[in-house]
Amino acid sequence: MFEYAPAPESRDIVDIKPSYGLFINGEWVEPLGEGRDKTVNPASEEVLAEVAVAGEADVDRAVQAARKAFTVWSAMPGSERAKYIFRIARIIQERARELAVLESLDNGKPIRESRDVDLPLVAAHFFYYAGWADKLSYAGFGPSPQPLGVAGQVIPWNFPLLMLAWKVAPALACGNTVVLKPAETTPLTALAFAEICRQADLPPGVVNIVTGAGSTGAAVVAHPDVDKVAFTGSTEVGRLIARSVAGSRKKVTLELGGKAANIVFEDAALDQAVEGIVNGIFFNQGHVCCAGSRLLVQESVAEELLDALKRRLSTLRLGDPLDKNTDIGAINSAAQLAKIRELSDAGEAEGAERWSPACPIPDKGFWFPPTVFTGVAQSHRIAREEIFGPVLSVLTFRTPAEAVEKANNTPYGLSAGVWTEKGSLMLWMASRLRAGVVWSNTFNKFDPTSPFGGYKESGYGREGGRHGLEAYLAV
Ligand code: NAP
Ligand code: MG
Repeated sequence: MFEYAPAPESRDIVDIKPSYGLFINGEWVEPLGEGRDKTVNPASEEVLAEVAVAGEADVDRAVQAARKAFTVWSAMPGSERAKYIFRIARIIQERARELAVLESLDNGKPIRESRDVDLPLVAAHFFYYAGWADKLSYAGFGPSPQPLGVAGQVIPWNFPLLMLAWKVAPALACGNTVVLKPAETTPLTALAFAEICRQADLPPGVVNIVTGAGSTGAAVVAHPDVDKVAFTGSTEVGRLIARSVAGSRKKVTLELGGKAANIVFEDAALDQAVEGIVNGIFFNQGHVCCAGSRLLVQESVAEELLDALKRRLSTLRLGDPLDKNTDIGAINSAAQLAKIRELSDAGEAEGAERWSPACPIPDKGFWFPPTVFTGVAQSHRIAREEIFGPVLSVLTFRTPAEAVEKANNTPYGLSAGVWTEKGSLMLWMASRLRAGVVWSNTFNKFDPTSPFGGYKESGYGREGGRHGLEAYLAV
């Protein structure tokens, strides 16, 4: 195997302020309370910046600003709104390198992913929804679909800027205004996005960013003058949110957890499947709601496939997220690392066999080696619970019917992957898998034109594509 020299991306391109306020009505304002939080680089535990914690009164200011801006923004012709959204998309492209470095610093994900996956998709989302802004009458929701009003949006830490794009772009295209709360551990790209809104001359109050922890999110969701709630995160918090808005007139979309099956049949191109398995569960350290965390492999090729997978995993590089050769970055937080450790230990205690490649772990920061569990039973916690880390549980099956039964034996239903050369088998499987997305001979492929969302405990509503407009229109 070749050894690679270090190839770190320079962080000089980013300008992180020591301290950030809240972005309300187009201005940076200090929070009314005393609260301050720190965000760290999970690869070094270095404090990157201090961030304001918005309390209820701050959230109220933001919602009022959004309400006022709604009058202007919703009355603007779609073609005018589109100009602003296109401008935002172009600024994101121009500042892509800076935003990618910032995302990798705050989140811990490899620069190769933030540069080649997150940022291109972020820009693509704004371009795509900018294109819809003046065509809403032709989207299949009636001749004159109306926006809902103020959207309260709460997003997680795994794809900070991309989740912002998924939420903000369709909301603005449809004529809504936004109050968004980023995750506590990854606020920096959302704060950079606030600057981009100013750079794009977006009217004040159309986008407001309130940082803080779970209680700030709860205040956004519960605010009586919010018309639409959009949430991505854990099923647990999703339940709290569903309860908090029950009986109100608020429209809700929830994108929650997953425990996806990645199913490999004996006739599949195995080398290609290995790449798909690696991308399915080790992309973004496995911090992916639709991650292929359960590998279901046909018994006749299980040994061959696992040998090839282990060989491939031995070539992955774990370390500095800013190094362009890094495959596996840092775990986003100490809390998430503790959760991954707890579930992996449970896997061993319940009798599954644990394997990781030889993998040096840096002294500082939060890290977890790529890990594979074999001999996993469906009843094991590692086969049922979302680990949200670089941990793969391997199960086997003999017949397509058994594969379907095992794949669907989960409270979740967000995604699935099928690997076979037979088109008829692929379609047979796809029509039986209870998952919002089924990937065919690939995994973790995203596109703004394609709707994304779950069944069962993975949530409801769709984001992306024409379907994604529906969540932001009174239809
Ligand atoms: P989370 O606790 O559900 O957090 C998601 C967002 O909701 C964050 O902005 C969070 O703020 C906020 N929040 C927390 N409590 C809230 C409340 N009561 N009301 C309103 N908002 C609230 O998820 P997490 O801490 O990021 O990760 C925990 C687990 O969620 C993961 O291990 C994984 O299983 C799942 N997850 C799923 C996805 C997905 O894409 N489906 C993404 C991330 C995580 P703070 O960040 O300040 O806590
Ligand atoms: Mg951070």
